[in-house]
Amino acid sequence: MNVNDYVLKYFDENNEELSKLAKEIWDYAELGLEEHKSCKAIIDVLEREGFSIEENISDMPTAFIGTWGSGEPIIGILGEYDALAGLSQKVSHIKEPVIEGAGGHGCGHNLLGIGSLGAVVAAKRAMEKYGIKGTVRYYGCPAEETISSKVFMARDGIFDDLAASLTWHPDFANAAYYSSTLAMNSFKVNFHGITAHAAGDPQEGRSALDASIIMDIGVNYLREHVIQEARIHSIITHGGDAPNIVPGYSQIHYIIRAPKRQDVEEIYERVKNIAKGAALITGTTYDIEFICGTYNYTVNNTINDLIADKLAQVGPIEYTEEELEFAKNLIGSLEPGQFESFLSSHRLDIDEIGGIICGRIADELELKGFSKGEVVPVSGDRADVSYITPSAQFGTTCVPLGTAEHNWQFVASCGSTIGFKGMILAAKVMALATLDFMQKPELLKAAQDELDSVRKGKEYVSPIPSDITIKKIMEKH
Ligand SMILES: [Zn+2]
Repeated sequence: MNVNDYVLKYFDENNEELSKLAKEIWDYAELGLEEHKSCKAIIDVLEREGFSIEENISDMPTAFIGTWGSGEPIIGILGEYDALAGLSQKVSHIKEPVIEGAGGHGCGHNLLGIGSLGAVVAAKRAMEKYGIKGTVRYYGCPAEETISSKVFMARDGIFDDLAASLTWHPDFANAAYYSSTLAMNSFKVNFHGITAHAAGDPQEGRSALDASIIMDIGVNYLREHVIQEARIHSIITHGGDAPNIVPGYSQIHYIIRAPKRQDVEEIYERVKNIAKGAALITGTTYDIEFICGTYNYTVNNTINDLIADKLAQVGPIEYTEEELEFAKNLIGSLEPGQFESFLSSHRLDIDEIGGIICGRIADELELKGFSKGEVVPVSGDRADVSYITPSAQFGTTCVPLGTAEHNWQFVASCGSTIGFKGMILAAKVMALATLDFMQKPELLKAAQDELDSVRKGKEYVSPIPSDITIKKIMEKH
């Protein structure tokens, strides 16, 4: 039996156990930085398989690394396992929480964590059996939804010695992500003024709210003079306490996004100057509370092509009548017009896809959000890893078409066999790609050359200021 067949056999034999584990994490539905039971379930398997475990990575109690093997190349597979607040939902096509108000896996990270686990274990077993040299690592990355933990892990240099990294995400199609994402900075500006009786002696007051409003007017004028693709979002999170008191404190929260990290940095500097100006105009003072920042995603076509090959090799997903019925009912629960608008916004042709759930490998489909050269208007912490080491992420079908992330239908599908089938496909692809990396150094060299050509010698500089620590973030959380 060759290595590939051995890997596929591993999944045939362990499909059920991995699916059971994914359901266990789905049941726990723990929120960011509280994923203790989910972590333990994953670490238990890694320890049983002989991986050494380092916990409390970057001061996060639910971040860990599991390592097996020795020497180079070192391949990292990233896993996540945090749920989303308030999205508790049964595996049902009717909206019905398991526990009212509890968390739910609305982004399918139960599958993400266990798919990546299956991949490292299968790769390790194959390396052991066939004497393949190298090191395989599982990165347990918590709190993706809330604090972008990978950026903190990246700042601590824990991805620096990797030859490549792989990860995936539950999606509506089986395809490599050839598209980039936006770089981002999220921060709050606190203005401090002087309170006074708004009618009796306003001349004694200095309004912090005026500062927030003037700052936002300034930023609105800035919009015309930044690159077209930049987005600046803001909300005033605190405006004052009563209209008859000159506000002594006000806070405005901004998110800046742009296609390149450098663009975000430049706009951020100009926005900080607007804060300074608003404080001068209003006679207030201000400070900036940095929340988080990320790079834009660096696409690596060398690895994407490998992933696309592996997807094609492993093949499409077949569904049972029950699964197709469940998919149909889930789509039936969407708001009127939502399904049609999903199809058109992703340039999906239902006849080309072959049904309401995309089991086939979307190699030649020009799906929006997957295609070369596109920038998907979202930001994520995997982007930082992709600048540090050659990386790829891909999607596998875990939900029917039209099912959007962070919705109850997504939770339901990611707890069902539709989700588990997508997860097993992802695990197979990552295990096979990892073994290719180990056996074909020229592949890693090509991937590194491609990354070098993007970076042009520019080192990774963490978007997070050095005085921001996880402890500080956790205190505020
Ligand atoms: Zn997600």
